[in-house]
Amino acid sequence: METPSVDADPNARRVAATAADDADPLASFRERFDVPGTYMDGNSLGALSTDAEASLDRAVEQWREHAVEGWTDADPDWFHYGERLGEKLAPLVGARDREVAVCGSTTANIHTLIATFYDAANDGSAANAANPGTVLVNDLDFPTDHYAIRAQLRQRGLDPDAHLTVVESDDGRTITPDAVERALRENDVDVLFLPSVFYRSGQLLDIERLTDLAHEHGAYAGFDLAHSAGVVPHSLHDRGVDFAVWCHYKYLNAGPGAIAGLFCHESNADLHPALAGWWGHEKETQFEMRHEFTPAAGAGRFQIGTIPILAAAPLDGALDVTLEAGIDRIREKSVALTDYLVDLVGTLPDSFAVGSPRAASRRGGHVAIEHPEAYRLTEALKARDVVVDFRPPNVIRVAPAPLYTGFEDVLDVIETLRGVYETRAHEEFEARSGGVT
Ligand SMILES: *Cc1c(COP(=O)(O)O)cnc(C)c1O
Repeated sequence: METPSVDADPNARRVAATAADDADPLASFRERFDVPGTYMDGNSLGALSTDAEASLDRAVEQWREHAVEGWTDADPDWFHYGERLGEKLAPLVGARDREVAVCGSTTANIHTLIATFYDAANDGSAANAANPGTVLVNDLDFPTDHYAIRAQLRQRGLDPDAHLTVVESDDGRTITPDAVERALRENDVDVLFLPSVFYRSGQLLDIERLTDLAHEHGAYAGFDLAHSAGVVPHSLHDRGVDFAVWCHYKYLNAGPGAIAGLFCHESNADLHPALAGWWGHEKETQFEMRHEFTPAAGAGRFQIGTIPILAAAPLDGALDVTLEAGIDRIREKSVALTDYLVDLVGTLPDSFAVGSPRAASRRGGHVAIEHPEAYRLTEALKARDVVVDFRPPNVIRVAPAPLYTGFEDVLDVIETLRGVYETRAHEEFEARSGGVT
């Protein structure tokens, strides 16, 4: 897909953006979404599609019609709902059918998988190991990942500060494979756990290289795909990734607080889940109600309690949209949109900078625009129906979600930003306070 040229003349610029939209093979997908304003926050909460709404409505209707019998008689039945969605998701992350489960939240899935793999690296129990190693993370992580890992270390009677290896960023935006390699060499790491894409800078890490490095140093390799699932293709099985987690409410558009996803490589399929629950029991005998836990074959064993059908149902329809568009075409458009955005930031005054990697191969689905007034500029954009978000200390995050945004939308973001800055309209807004952005 062609990235529109950024002409010095504003009219020519607009013509090029419109032409790129006209040539976009995914343009018609936008009609299936309700998109409020110029929406560039799909990496925080994706938009609603008619497909997701229909599959949610269907679950509600089936509840009305079948009540408890819906577990077996609904179409599709609720008892195997999670397994079915896992199979549907598998191609998006490059997994085999039984390597993916939908369950819980990203944070809960980090708890169970970190604990499972950390114990596995320590002969089944890090609490009893003479000398347990560390979990490798980095100082740019999304905070919940650290909260969960620290809590699991504490549960094993370990000091989290002594059992985390924190890779430090040199520039506050990115980390290098060399820094990870050094950390692996200098520490006894049991589990490497890194994001695929950084939530702030948008750096896309090299999962293949990092997985190989972890394995060379005797560590398991796990990844948080929250900012790449649905916008960047993955080959988790073939790359030998041990485990992964992600959410479905960002680029996968399954709605606020939608059920999350996880991957466990089939070579680790015999591990005992750290946070076991009856929904992870072997399906065939689950209702025999034995007190002895027999884990399901595959990733389904990491489910804990009853699948929240109403938080899972929108994912069914949302996945149809993504699968129909095709993850490779989605990535191709995403690269063109973010390349265009990076080019356009170059036309803004010098106080604006791109805080994301320039090379598309190292960038996920969004671009970080850095500016000392980022917070107030974000507020001014939102007041003009341009929905972006602020991440401290100085980042305006702009995520052109490929299924429902186009090149002209990207141009609108930058032209609105230019107008706000030139007229100093952002100065009407108060300096930063709390809240969800
Ligand atoms: C969005 C996000 C989460 C969200 O976790 P929840 O349990 O869904 O609240 C976790 N990790 C990363 C890296 C994220 O970007």
